[in-house]
Amino acid sequence: VPAPRTQRRETRSTCCYCGIGCGVVIESGPGTDGRDAILGVRGDETHPANFGRLCSKGATLHLSAAPEVYAQARAATPEVRTARDRPRQPCGWDAALDLVAGRLEGIVRAHGPDALGIYVSGQLLTEDYYVFNKLAKGLVGTNNIDTNSRLCMSSAVAGYKRTLGADAPPCCYDDLDHAGTVFVAGANPAFAHPVLYRRLEEARRRNPRMRLVVADPRRTDTAEGADLHLPLAPGSDVALFLGMLAVMLAEDLVARDYVAAHTSGFAELEALATQWPVDRAAAECGLPGDDIAAAARWFAQGPTLSLYCQGLNQSSSGTDKNAALIHLHLATAQIGRPGAGPFSLTGQPNAMGGREVGGMANLLSAHRDLASERDRAEVAALWGLPSVPARPGRTAVEMFEAAAAGEIRALWIACTNPAQSLPDQRMVRRALERAEFVVVQDAYIGTATAPYADVLLPASGWGEKDGTVTNSERRISRVRAAVPGYADSREDWRIARDVAVRLEARLRPGRPSLFPYASAEQVWNEHRESTRGRDLDITGLSYAMLEAEGPQQWPLPQGAREGLARLYADGRFATADGRARFVASAPRAPAEPVDRHYPFALTGGRLRDQWHGMSRTGTVPQLFGHAPEPTLDLHPADAARIGVGDGDFVYATSRRASQVMRVRRDPGLRPGSVFAAMHWGEEWVGGRGSHAAALGINALTSPALDPASRQPELKHTAVKLLRAELP
Ligand code: SF4
Repeated sequence: VPAPRTQRRETRSTCCYCGIGCGVVIESGPGTDGRDAILGVRGDETHPANFGRLCSKGATLHLSAAPEVYAQARAATPEVRTARDRPRQPCGWDAALDLVAGRLEGIVRAHGPDALGIYVSGQLLTEDYYVFNKLAKGLVGTNNIDTNSRLCMSSAVAGYKRTLGADAPPCCYDDLDHAGTVFVAGANPAFAHPVLYRRLEEARRRNPRMRLVVADPRRTDTAEGADLHLPLAPGSDVALFLGMLAVMLAEDLVARDYVAAHTSGFAELEALATQWPVDRAAAECGLPGDDIAAAARWFAQGPTLSLYCQGLNQSSSGTDKNAALIHLHLATAQIGRPGAGPFSLTGQPNAMGGREVGGMANLLSAHRDLASERDRAEVAALWGLPSVPARPGRTAVEMFEAAAAGEIRALWIACTNPAQSLPDQRMVRRALERAEFVVVQDAYIGTATAPYADVLLPASGWGEKDGTVTNSERRISRVRAAVPGYADSREDWRIARDVAVRLEARLRPGRPSLFPYASAEQVWNEHRESTRGRDLDITGLSYAMLEAEGPQQWPLPQGAREGLARLYADGRFATADGRARFVASAPRAPAEPVDRHYPFALTGGRLRDQWHGMSRTGTVPQLFGHAPEPTLDLHPADAARIGVGDGDFVYATSRRASQVMRVRRDPGLRPGSVFAAMHWGEEWVGGRGSHAAALGINALTSPALDPASRQPELKHTAVKLLRAELP
């Protein structure tokens, strides 16, 4: 029986799925079991990210929070096991936290601080991230803390820093209303960022002269609606962008005055681009030269807004791809003004916040660099420590490779599911088995990673915790608790703090605590102070201001009334000399090109109605209407060649593993390319232990990394396909 209206409360918060960061209003009150529960959600009309709109995932958040769903899905109480061959047993928080602190101390004392690896998530809040980062780098003295955001946006970070000097998306969502051309590269916002895509559709309706160009090997829903689709060969993005630049050079479309006044390094890039005339680029990309030329002309005419995501980022040349696209903006002065700029879309709700607090193996607080002695000294001073370690930390894939090799002995995994989402799953599972001690901190109990936990710490979930997130347009929004944490669960920052204070009592007894926080706001205030004078300065912002005036963009330094909608409007960039940099890089083939043994290029991606490993969306039956089961999509000509039709099974085999997958023919794929959604894991074909012990697409994917960003090449795996006759 639904709670009477009079007993319902409303709480403004932020959607916990994608990086668009839509505002939601949570309705809560007595649930079917009489306890406080989330009863409904609607879009927040006042939130500038969505103005009341929600996509299918956001609009069903309350269904995934129903008491009967949580009773099955949620981690309720801490659990520990005394031996690997024994099941975990429930225990109290104090016992679990003492055990974690004791085991971590033992491992760190015996093997050094780098024997610990902490793997966190872009779904944690900024405050959670901050405490974890300080625990690793400040208390334990290791930089072995990285995040699943490494899998989705570290190439965007590296691309911005290489060219513009800082990890700061220079655009905002309003730019869609001012753009003359929207250039989408390696992104499918119709599925992955639906509310932004709806805003794009409305802008196009209002401005019929706006052109939408989509560069994507697949004919996605976004590509379907484009004025020009460039179905380039997988991995050929840099060649496409160089070919477009060659057209701009040949047709005198380069903004020479802007380039001379505000950039450096153009001569080298110009020399490289002249080696990539449109005919050569067309041959490399498998595209008509006229289409490349048309895209170049529209781009130069502008105002041009580029939207890009994993198709550029998840590549062994992801940083080069990001930089090559940003080069086009700089060469044509399509940046720093309404409707123009390179706009990387973040996949997760708080990948941006994680970057801001330095929650990655190569970063420190407030966009500081681990490699910089001055930055390390500043962070040490902020934390009241003599130093922070200079040794580079292990990034996501490397952390698990180190654990598989026995170099990392303790893994603490928070709010993420590496036993599904990291590439080369057999290696990941070796790592989880070999590690002496595995802590899994999660709201959900049914992940593929949970069975490896020696200690399971139940975390509060969405709607149960306070803090902040930052969305793709640098906008900081409050996340608010509408109901108490489920069962015995606790907020992630509190769990990290509670382990930290136990650990510091052992590692630095008698000293003042580094973690004197009683609330998320206190954590955030310390983070805020660390941003003073930095590119993301938010010293003019407070929880009170977020409460009174709603979400705000950074930077917002002390004395400012509001944040900056766009960066670099004055043509001054965040580099030492204020000039943006062109860094010429020739196209490189994927790390694992197709060949006669593995002739298909496998790429992965999101479906419209599912989120990551489906811990939450997988509990909502309505969200399976769009795509009820996982498939391997391939071009009809390829399907005919290997003798399969819709619904048949194939063995998809890479250099690492083999998976059984159900076939779906899709004429929108390039022949030679195959696609599988990222969402399904172990239960893929008949459950764990069945056909080929299916581990999901990431059993196949390659751990090859971009040398600059250390992001794995999840978008390109060479596979072979063989018809499978299943019993
Ligand atoms: Fe949530 Fe993203 Fe959908 Fe907005 S677009 S409702 S943030 S999933």
